[in-house]
Amino acid sequence: MADQHNHEHDHEHEEPEVTKVIGEVPDLSNAEARPITVVGNPVLHRECQDVTAFDAELSTLIDDMFASMYAAEGVGLAANQIGVDLKVFVYDCPDDEGVRHIGHVINPVLEEFPADRRRVLDDGHEGCLSVPTAYAELPRPAYAAVRGQDKDGNPVRVEGTGFFARCLQHETDHLYGFLYIDKLSKRDRKDALKQMAEGTPKYATVPNN
Ligand SMILES: [Zn+2]
Repeated sequence: MADQHNHEHDHEHEEPEVTKVIGEVPDLSNAEARPITVVGNPVLHRECQDVTAFDAELSTLIDDMFASMYAAEGVGLAANQIGVDLKVFVYDCPDDEGVRHIGHVINPVLEEFPADRRRVLDDGHEGCLSVPTAYAELPRPAYAAVRGQDKDGNPVRVEGTGFFARCLQHETDHLYGFLYIDKLSKRDRKDALKQMAEGTPKYATVPNN
């Protein structure tokens, strides 16, 4: 997911100071930033494969995903955004309460919204590294929880509020073949694609044939 800092609606998103960090930035000394796939590339529009091998190759993929996300100044990245057909996402994303969340989830599944929790929608704007330079308003539940595994195959559960809840939903959607623009009205989707056509990304992308 793209950072909200990079767009014109900055003033609408009040970012609290980071007072707490959950997770840590991995050692990326051997990691390589890879170019980002963009809307239209088939790998983004179908469900990715489940990860079954929790090996060194998976660790390298996660590190390269972090490197790619940081190079593109994103706050979340799914494996198919660097052309890899596997259910993996990484994040380094603030929530609305001043907590910076850093980590990865393998084979994520979004939990059903808890019945006992008030269904509050977050009205923020959203962008995606695979739809470069475009942003659109997209209401999403202001709370989300994802279950999956870590790189060693251990079960994990990650939950978040506000902007981080948006990120968890956005990245899980990617791995099932959906982009945020697929959730927009026809008109807003068209507008986002127009913004993309008129803009130039500040990071390397994979050309569509
Ligand atoms: Zn995205």
